Amino acid sequence: MADLFIGGAWTDAVAGGRRTIRCPADGAVVATVAEATRADTEAAIAAARRAFDAGPWPRTPASERGRLLLRTADLIERDRAAIARAESLDTGKRLAESEYDVDDVVRCFRYFGGIAGTDAGRVIDTGRDDAVSRVVYEPIGVCGLITPWNYPLLQTSWKVAPALAAGDTFVLKPSELTPSTAVLLMRLLEEAGLPPGVANLVLGAGPEAGAPLAEHPDVDMVSFTGGLATGRRVMASAAATVKRVALELGGKNPNIVFADADFETAVDFALTAVFLHSGQVCSAGARLLVEDPIHDAFVAEVARRAEDIRLGGPFDPEAETGPLISAAHLAKVEAYVEAGLAEGAKLRCGGRRPDEPELAGGFYYRPTVLDGCHREMRVVREESFGPVLTVERFSGEDEAVTLGNDTDYGLAGAVWTRDAGRAQRVAARLRHGTVWINDYHPYVPQAEWGGFKQSGVGRELGPTGLDEYREIKHVWQNTDPRPQHWFRPRDAGRGA
Ligand code: NDP
Repeated sequence: MADLFIGGAWTDAVAGGRRTIRCPADGAVVATVAEATRADTEAAIAAARRAFDAGPWPRTPASERGRLLLRTADLIERDRAAIARAESLDTGKRLAESEYDVDDVVRCFRYFGGIAGTDAGRVIDTGRDDAVSRVVYEPIGVCGLITPWNYPLLQTSWKVAPALAAGDTFVLKPSELTPSTAVLLMRLLEEAGLPPGVANLVLGAGPEAGAPLAEHPDVDMVSFTGGLATGRRVMASAAATVKRVALELGGKNPNIVFADADFETAVDFALTAVFLHSGQVCSAGARLLVEDPIHDAFVAEVARRAEDIRLGGPFDPEAETGPLISAAHLAKVEAYVEAGLAEGAKLRCGGRRPDEPELAGGFYYRPTVLDGCHREMRVVREESFGPVLTVERFSGEDEAVTLGNDTDYGLAGAVWTRDAGRAQRVAARLRHGTVWINDYHPYVPQAEWGGFKQSGVGRELGPTGLDEYREIKHVWQNTDPRPQHWFRPRDAGRGA
């Protein structure tokens, strides 16, 4: 089946390549999809360029663009079950989590649909009665959108919805591992009535199908979510044509527990923070910092509960979390654990693949707790992006903040304490884009989501999320133009 969407038509890859998609839970074949090459991506960029330069979308009133997003939200809601199932088959994640993600996708489209027409810019007082001055928003142009495999449709929606609200056209390149829901989204945008060429989809590998989006002069902006190393490459490529760049590059997020925290709740959230979706979450609380007096008891309880976590496939109602995305990713996570142990970490639980024979066909790894960690260890400094919790010990507020900030990343963090003043002080000093107090993971579409330091550039979601996808223009209009005679005309008696 043709599954590249270019210029409003479904096509096959020019070179005719196909890729087999397998479910990470058991290796079953889910689909075969087109494998785009550079030539396909260039055709998609040309289609998006034409649609921007000559098509109606950028000039469509923002409120009308918003209505299309609201219609799309309704269609996604209508197809919730099928979309969630496709997401679970591609990612291996529990069906309940995929359904939750689809609900978030609907909320995202409704949010940007709702705000699309509400802000027409502002009028500035010029201090004169013969001139008006306006600041208006305009679309950027053609956007290259590159998305990862952990929350495929949600991460895609965080880019597609604001780009459409702003009046841009785009080429989307989802992860080669999880293409299915991107295809479904394109079909729904088509059904909602989006003009041809506004939304374009290429499927394929990053270096081949994705890289041109950062390099091509006809792309005005590139928005990327994924790993730090790839993000740096994308940013460097984009520099050659001075593109707008938005990057979300993950985090190494501290979850800081003071001795006066509600013990049972903090233990419970420490598990959710890191083991949700088997740790394949950019904001995962993979770095647990525990204050001295409760350290031993806290770690023992976290490890005891982690031992009990049930692994299983997307449709196993008893499963609490699923597999890793691929064999390569499983090997990478194993290597991080081995490196941690070699550097002196103590294994409190996990550190191995599961024993159950029914899980042998998938890329499963047991929830793992490494105690006695310190910040020089690779497993503490780098994202393992797996179900691996490292534990460090601290004493007092200053040390908690120093450790919590000692990372190249700055995406998210949490602080657990019953002392309201300390909670505010620590939250204020943490150099991370989101800080939760006595909580972990909730996000709200109205709040900005983005990172400090090397976690990224730009913001997703929230009112400023829309600004990533539009230009701000100042329009000055002299309403009564007359000669100014700054330089006096000759016949006005120069030198007289
Ligand atoms: P990547 O950064 O490689 O992939 C993210 C996206 O970028 C994918 O669509 C990928 O394509 C694409 N891509 C890869 N190379 C290029 C390139 N040269 N130019 C343009 N696009 C490219 O992440 P991985 O999937 O390999 O995961 C690596 C690590 O990234 C993880 O272990 C984790 O640490 C982190 N990560 C962070 C995420 C976050 O939310 N911040 C999400 C996912 C991963 P394709 O995969 O199709 O080849």
